[in-house]
Amino acid sequence: MRIHVADHPLITQKLTTLRDERTDSPTFRKLVEELVTLLAYEATRNLRVRPVTVQTPVALAEGVAIAEPKPLIVPILRAGLGMLEGMTRLLPLAEVGFLGMVRDEETLQPRTYADRIPEDLSGRQVFLLDPMLATGGTLVHAIDLLLSRGASDVVAITILAAPEGLAHVEESFAGKPVDVAVMTAGLDLKLNEKGYIVPGLGDAGDRLYGTV
Ligand code: URA
Repeated sequence: MRIHVADHPLITQKLTTLRDERTDSPTFRKLVEELVTLLAYEATRNLRVRPVTVQTPVALAEGVAIAEPKPLIVPILRAGLGMLEGMTRLLPLAEVGFLGMVRDEETLQPRTYADRIPEDLSGRQVFLLDPMLATGGTLVHAIDLLLSRGASDVVAITILAAPEGLAHVEESFAGKPVDVAVMTAGLDLKLNEKGYIVPGLGDAGDRLYGTV
């Protein structure tokens, strides 16, 4: 599994403000979008393209266009929705699917409550959006579903990751026919007894949208 932890002062500065408990929801939402756009640059490094030729006002030029089938962006609801705008800004030609997953606060296990993902994902690059890679349970559940639909190339974009979660994802897909990469703005210390990332930023969904 490819793991990329962003190493850029602008990303670290935005992440620091995001972590600060004094940051209000409108600022938090804006920062998440900005962070995702910055992360998306690295996350799309292996984007599938095809060669094309265009006519400039001067001569023919060789270039590339995004290959078919188009990449699919999948925010995991609810908190992943806050990352969608930042991702489509960089990849406007991608299609968007939705996956609704909720974590049982007792068992910490994920449950799917909404599935708007194409039945056939063969040959498609999928960009999964979930801000917090904590236990990894949600991400493993989501990637399993993508795998069952034929996906073989999945990039997960997260704002923060815990070592426990990364290890869980890595173990779950080792030797399976899927190429999984994780891009994150920060790798934190550990999980606490409630499954929160430490030092983390708290509940990302609540900080984006309030506690409804
Ligand atoms: N989900 C969150 O929103 N925050 C965490 O720290 C862990 C999971």
